[in-house]
Amino acid sequence: MNTAKTIAEIRRLVADARSGGVVCVGLVPTMGALHKGHYSLIDAACGECDFVAVSIFVNPTQFGPNEDYRRYPRPIDDDVAGCVSHGVDAVFAPRAEEMYPDGFATTVSVAGPTGPMEGRCRPGHFDGVCTVVAKLFNIVAPDVACFGAKDYQQVTVIKRMAADLDMPLRIKVCPTVREADGLAMSSRNVCLGDEERAQAAALYESLRLSERLIREGLSRAEEVIETARRHLAEKAPLGKADYIEIVDPDSLETVDTIEKDVVIALAVKFPSARLIDNIRVDMTEQRE
Ligand code: AMP
Repeated sequence: MNTAKTIAEIRRLVADARSGGVVCVGLVPTMGALHKGHYSLIDAACGECDFVAVSIFVNPTQFGPNEDYRRYPRPIDDDVAGCVSHGVDAVFAPRAEEMYPDGFATTVSVAGPTGPMEGRCRPGHFDGVCTVVAKLFNIVAPDVACFGAKDYQQVTVIKRMAADLDMPLRIKVCPTVREADGLAMSSRNVCLGDEERAQAAALYESLRLSERLIREGLSRAEEVIETARRHLAEKAPLGKADYIEIVDPDSLETVDTIEKDVVIALAVKFPSARLIDNIRVDMTEQRE
């Protein structure tokens, strides 16, 4: 496996692969500190593509001024070893200056699905995400790019960007991989103290509780949210809910009365890390 640090190097690796007969190039964009969630994306890409590139880049432009950019874990040697063992063909691990050289002045900004949830709590976050992902798509020119349902809003926004800008690739969404107690795997989980980690199981519990209430017939979103909020307050007192929202799975518009499929999404700020999670409640399952 090759590790490229420059745009020219990764372009060369992909071009050589294509001229050697590769027809499907897959890309898995990550910020590193790889875990089983990332490896599930990598395995999915390897299952569909004959050349897989993984980008490892803690993208400064998607972090707010008081967020954890500096503290974000960067175990690059472990990540590279993990990529080797999962059959990755190339890692692209650029420095910030490579991606954002002096004079850089362009932002890719998506409206619509960036509005609620993370967009409201983290101003500028999705501009950073869309700009770096657009650059990665232009650099690697993949046929398929894999993203996790864990970051539901992110992949919804990226699908919007790719469609709106006629980017010639397919976005594949992979299911959320969880710890035994339901906590969604995240590079930030290692930052949690023991007590925070124990309480963090309450995120998924409150999502499942909300799902159960909806399946039992509760259709007023506000009541479902209030129950989830109470569960979080009781079981995760160290955390503070940034939001709990019930939204349409495609537009991400707020739903007041639940009549069809919805996504329930939440963000909880613990002293050591801010965690997000979501589930999709598929109402057709219920009728079958
Ligand atoms: P990150 O390194 O956190 O930016 O994540 C890189 C990609 O991995 C994104 O598409 C995430 O949605 C995905 N991802 C992160 N955690 C998980 C997880 N627990 N299960 C599935 N995919 C994940």
